[in-house]
Amino acid sequence: IPRERIRNFCIIAHIDHGKSTLADRLLEYTGTISERKMQEQVMDKMELEKERGITIKAKAVRMIYKAKDGEEYLLNLIDTPGHVDFNYEVSRSLAACEGALLVVDATQGIEAQTLANVYLALEHNLEIIPVINKIDLPSADPDETKREIEDIIGLDAQDAILASAKTGEGIEEILEAVVKRVPAPTGSASLPLRALIFDSLYDAYKGAVAFVRVIDGTIRAKQMIKMMSTGKNFEVAEVGMFNPDMQPVDLLEAGEVGYVAAGIKNVIDTRVGDTITDAEKPAKQPLPGYKKAVPMVFCGIYPAEGEEYEDLKDALGKLRLSDASLFFEPEISAALGFGFRCGFLGLLHMDIIQERLEREYDLNIITTAPSVVFKVIKTDGSIVEIDNPTNFPDPSEIDYIEEPYVRASIMLPTEYVGAIMELCQERRGEMKDMEYINEKRVILRYDMPLSEIIYDFFDQLKSRTRGYASLDYEITGYRKSEMVKLDILINGEIVDALSFIVHKDKAYIRGRQIAERLKDVIPRHLFEIPIQAAIGGKIIARETVKALRKNVLAKCYGGDITRKKKLLEKQKEGKKRMRKIGNVELPQEAFMSVLKMD
Ligand code: GDP
Ligand code: MG
Repeated sequence: IPRERIRNFCIIAHIDHGKSTLADRLLEYTGTISERKMQEQVMDKMELEKERGITIKAKAVRMIYKAKDGEEYLLNLIDTPGHVDFNYEVSRSLAACEGALLVVDATQGIEAQTLANVYLALEHNLEIIPVINKIDLPSADPDETKREIEDIIGLDAQDAILASAKTGEGIEEILEAVVKRVPAPTGSASLPLRALIFDSLYDAYKGAVAFVRVIDGTIRAKQMIKMMSTGKNFEVAEVGMFNPDMQPVDLLEAGEVGYVAAGIKNVIDTRVGDTITDAEKPAKQPLPGYKKAVPMVFCGIYPAEGEEYEDLKDALGKLRLSDASLFFEPEISAALGFGFRCGFLGLLHMDIIQERLEREYDLNIITTAPSVVFKVIKTDGSIVEIDNPTNFPDPSEIDYIEEPYVRASIMLPTEYVGAIMELCQERRGEMKDMEYINEKRVILRYDMPLSEIIYDFFDQLKSRTRGYASLDYEITGYRKSEMVKLDILINGEIVDALSFIVHKDKAYIRGRQIAERLKDVIPRHLFEIPIQAAIGGKIIARETVKALRKNVLAKCYGGDITRKKKLLEKQKEGKKRMRKIGNVELPQEAFMSVLKMD
């Protein structure tokens, strides 16, 4: 199919607005996949992803559509992740397209994440086709949705397509609009090769496979290619297209979307955003916009049972094969033993990895409180980046500290504005702007420390607005902040895995909360256990777990042997989940207690 009849597009939608369902309908309508195979949603591959109803990784699929003008068109649909943690991947997927379907749920209207992605698409000069979905529902309000699209985004919604991904209404109209309105790709097959990597996966047989949009030139098997960010060379083993499964083809040329396998062992070498060029005849400039994925949130992950260390190492290694943005390195905690310091793009990414370790690898893990990366400027002028409270320098060596800030956009119904302004205030937010979308909804914009967002901000936002708020944020840079390291002492000993870095105005309250919570989860022992919170050796809060009264045990030594046995058994079971800190048995949940705010 000639380049004039290729269309590369993606779908932008807020979670649950119907992106996956619509993608399924498009595949069905074009006969790309039979209805029988359709039972599984094709675009959401991972089980976890389906349960959470989110699209984690971008995927691509190729469709042949016979349009009303009688011609056959090749349509490449590139799926984009719908979560703020994966914004960079979204931007690379958009860069691979000429057009986007903007899907908005007619019962919900525009949400924060939709808005963020539309702006990204506009930056990349994509042709945007508004689609108003779920019009089959009685509560659908397409006119209001159109108004929102015009007022908030400033797009002409006159000819927005009314659709139902459920009933199939509007699907043909969408395909016709893609053909008519999305421009054909430009670029030249005779220029040196430049292919944009917008995603990758790890395949047991093919190794790391790069998903690419060829911008210039051609790529075929046996060709020597160069990754422009690292300068590494590989010999192409296979190129192909998504049908939707991988299907080899002879070559990919300018304008086309497909995959490249080159016996690459690790996805680290197929970096999203990187440019593939010809090793013998390299392009002068890589494509713009490449950024190395930088982990923003770190935590310690330890095996609950020490013997599982090797298994954990193995599992993290396997996950890393297919996830170049997952970082890990060994670390040792006095309290938890051997484990790993892990870095993630954001909290959702962290949750996903933890859940996969537990579910897919059947591991029992303990995680420590997530931390952002602080910059500590020392009195000797040197700067250290701290992602682990254990490495926090002595206060006497610190000149000042900087922490990462975000610009957060929160979209919510007007009746919750008061509650959410209060929440943002509590989280050291600085209000930048408030914009009315209509009488019922507003956008609040705040500058806020990232560290405040990672402590259950999203959960709080949801619960204080009964689920009606949506959040989007982007990192804006570092700002000076008065941070301190808070230590927790149990029975006089600092438990390193419970330390964290906190703003000095909040240290007192957090210290007290954690001490109280620990008091509730630490079982009584035969002796009294003091729990203390301290900053640089100064105690700021104290609680005590009282000693067991001797006569409780004494009673068991009577005649009732079964009762004694039961008690011992129960103790044994509990022990499995316990960590010994000095001579105190600490239950696993103690380590989680630093995560919750209130
Ligand atoms: P995604 O998160 O954007 O991929 O959304 P999904 O495609 O997973 O859809 C979210 C929910 O909305 C699912 O329960 C779908 O069955 C439902 N849904 C999607 N499109 C429509 C529609 O046009 N009408 C109705 N009634 N439900 C829809
Ligand atoms: Mg989906």
